[in-house]
Amino acid sequence: MSEEKLGLNTICTHVGEIEDKQFKGSVSPIYLSSSYEFMDVDVKRYPRYFNTPNQEHLAKKVAALEHAEAAMIFGSGMAAVSTTLLAFLKAGDHVVVQKDIYGGTRNLIEAHFDNFKIDYTFTNGLEVDEFASCLKENTKMIYIETPSNPLLKLVDLNAISELAKANDAMTVIDNTFATPILQNPIDFGIDVVIHSATKYLGGHSDICAGAVASTQKNMDTIWDMAKNLGGSLSDFTVWMLERSMKTLVLRVKAQQKNARKLAKYLNKHEAIAKVYYPGLKDHPDHKLAKKQMRGYGAMMSFDLADGLDAKAFLKALKLIKPSMSLAGIESTIMLPSEASHSLLTPEERAAQGIGDNLIRWSVGIESRKDLIKDVEQAIESVSSSALQTTNS
Ligand SMILES: *Cc1c(COP(=O)(O)O)cnc(C)c1O
Repeated sequence: MSEEKLGLNTICTHVGEIEDKQFKGSVSPIYLSSSYEFMDVDVKRYPRYFNTPNQEHLAKKVAALEHAEAAMIFGSGMAAVSTTLLAFLKAGDHVVVQKDIYGGTRNLIEAHFDNFKIDYTFTNGLEVDEFASCLKENTKMIYIETPSNPLLKLVDLNAISELAKANDAMTVIDNTFATPILQNPIDFGIDVVIHSATKYLGGHSDICAGAVASTQKNMDTIWDMAKNLGGSLSDFTVWMLERSMKTLVLRVKAQQKNARKLAKYLNKHEAIAKVYYPGLKDHPDHKLAKKQMRGYGAMMSFDLADGLDAKAFLKALKLIKPSMSLAGIESTIMLPSEASHSLLTPEERAAQGIGDNLIRWSVGIESRKDLIKDVEQAIESVSSSALQTTNS
């Protein structure tokens, strides 16, 4: 069975499943052994070697979805990010890093790369020229994340991969927001694809995991570092992730359909100053999204109109949950100024376009009419208290 010809839903449900030869059960059994035979075997298996049966099999599903030769499952998104960066970057190397990347990745680089004598430059913007102007003689890698958090800006995958190739650098992408259902960076020449599987791959806000996909050669390099850093995932959670990924296409499609319609609804709402969603025609990267994505995703952000209190809005919501994380089947909502970007000064946030009234919505699968009703009643509640403040 050639995996490349399989449809996305078939890959999600079947690729990498472990046949239950003993009892003929219909789902993969869990192998919890932390100790395996070492004589007369092809592979010496050990959980921290990322090669237990469940880990190895689930990696095949991720590889198939990302059009990659191989993949590995990690204990968290950050285990995947840190292992990948440290596998390829050595003392004396330079990495160009996209501005507006995930806070943990930014912190890893800013807090620790000096100690490792790895040189880095954050870009000023997301255009390919801004990446080009950061290149140095010793640039080994360009690191990107698209769509970005929280303003959903896009980076041109083709342009970045060409820039890197022309300069003998490799490219790494954090593909968490797009998911492999909507974006396959390897098709555009990107070398290594990372996911926080805590987000859409997991999709139910109940597991922490990560994944990396690339060529077999690159994965061998990553494995060499990974087995020493030790960021593998427990086989229980690997099994849960396999279970979750069976419905990845269904979830992402339902979430993005909601997001698209809700973005249009918010865009017309007088209590909303601005909506950031690549699916809207007036989004600056709408055309690029059409070119490199198969859909616009289920993350969006919006600014409440001036005078409306964003914190009070969140508190007034009854169905949509204020929450740090994202990508679960339930809608969650968050204030970047209070959570993901709270460590920046208000001036730094303003420079990035992140105001105190900016709200990020990870759209879930709930019925749209109920989500709209919830937003309407919360807007009404903050509008009436804004009115009272003005009158008093
Ligand atoms: C959450 C997240 C991460 C980190 O993943 P963890 O599983 O929390 O370690 C990395 N990148 C992006 C884009 C994320 O949203």
